[in-house]
Amino acid sequence: MIGKILTMSSMLSFPPVRLTEDSLNLRAELREFISESRKILDWKPRSNFMSTFSSEFSKMLGSNGYLGITWPSQYGGQDRSALDRFVITEELLAAGAPVAAHWVAERQSGPLLIRYGNEKQKQVILPKIASGECYFSIGMSEPNSGSDLASIRTRAENTGQSWKITGTKVWTSNAHKNHWMILLARTSPPSEKRHEGMSQFLIDLKNDKMQINPIPNMLGQHEFNEVVMEEMEIPLDRLIGQEGNGWQQVTAELAFERSGPERFLSSYNVLLELIKVSGNQQNTEMRKAVGKIVSRLMALRTMSISIAGMLERGENPDIAAAVVKDSGNDFEQQVIEITREVLAIEPICKSKNSQEYESLMADLILQLPSFSFRGGTPEIMRSIIARGLGVR
Ligand SMILES: Cc1cc2nc3c(=O)[nH]c(=O)nc-3n(C[C@H](O)[C@H](O)[C@H](O)COP(=O)(O)OP(=O)(O)OC[C@H]3O[C@@H](n4cnc5c(N)ncnc54)[C@H](O)[C@@H]3O)c2cc1C
Repeated sequence: MIGKILTMSSMLSFPPVRLTEDSLNLRAELREFISESRKILDWKPRSNFMSTFSSEFSKMLGSNGYLGITWPSQYGGQDRSALDRFVITEELLAAGAPVAAHWVAERQSGPLLIRYGNEKQKQVILPKIASGECYFSIGMSEPNSGSDLASIRTRAENTGQSWKITGTKVWTSNAHKNHWMILLARTSPPSEKRHEGMSQFLIDLKNDKMQINPIPNMLGQHEFNEVVMEEMEIPLDRLIGQEGNGWQQVTAELAFERSGPERFLSSYNVLLELIKVSGNQQNTEMRKAVGKIVSRLMALRTMSISIAGMLERGENPDIAAAVVKDSGNDFEQQVIEITREVLAIEPICKSKNSQEYESLMADLILQLPSFSFRGGTPEIMRSIIARGLGVR
């Protein structure tokens, strides 16, 4: 038994990582940038990083060199470390900055293209992402295929002159605003080896012939879409990587998607309010509640910095990222529950731009259930962890 536990702990560990002097300097610089950008663009802090789309803010970040900083300089990057990128994402999320426009492109589409894209794709697209001008959607989920991605039915057929694509994607965040979507489609019929025969494609959301239909979320806002493609033709060179290698590629993409601090910082603004109020009161229960939440936050943060260290060393943080995502989503929920118990304030849905605590809380209560779904549900995360540890 002890032997088994020791083997498991060697498969799942979070080696301590210290942020470098460079990263700490970057943090100070970025705080100044964020406060300056707020004065110029008058943005209001929000909790859900995917709901605040501002191309002005993304371009400002890009022109100051804060996007794609880990990428090679020939593609608009700065060859800097994953720890520097961690500091940037953490500061932007903690400030509730309007990052939705560039987030997916910078977090996962760009890194995917660096690893698997052809030279033309890299040269045309990556510098635009790094300058904050090019935004991406994720084209994975379908009606009846979410957790079980291998069951997708969207087909792409090579006609010799083009790829002809037929199928429907759902929950496609911001497809109505973004420029590109990375689509996962079947290029061979399903077989006993379910993970074979899929490929990834670049879809031009502005020019390819498809229908993008809105799906309102629980707040009545338009972020999700249904994307319907019927015999839609795209050029042959829009294939990403190798035909049939889609499963390996999409798994790598999901690892980028799950590895960042956005998985536990959604309720950070509510936590700040709780700390502010509890600091002014002699209420032991409230202080205990704050202590409990903050200690959990510090643990998650230490684990997340450790994952940035793994990325920096070129390791695959799949299992560790699934642990942080699952515990992080649970933590976000806990912040709201504890805060509601100790703070007697009524959550009120106000205007979209309101930055008051009551409104942040109301938005979060309506959106939190969905946070554990995006990027993979708790059951799927736990199944990845169990499989990775060899106990399933
Ligand atoms: C805010 C948000 C944004 C999103 N954005 C995008 C996007 O841009 N692009 C995109 O492609 N998708 C997006 N999604 C979709 C998301 O990835 C899926 O919702 C998710 O993968 C779950 O799929 P599903 O909704 O089909 O649920 P299902 O897979 O049907 O799951 C329903 C329930 O069954 C459970 N379940 C399923 N399979 C198993 C199993 N094998 N064992 C145990 N339990 C199981 C799940 O855990 C869940 O509780 C987004 C979702 C949300 C909430």
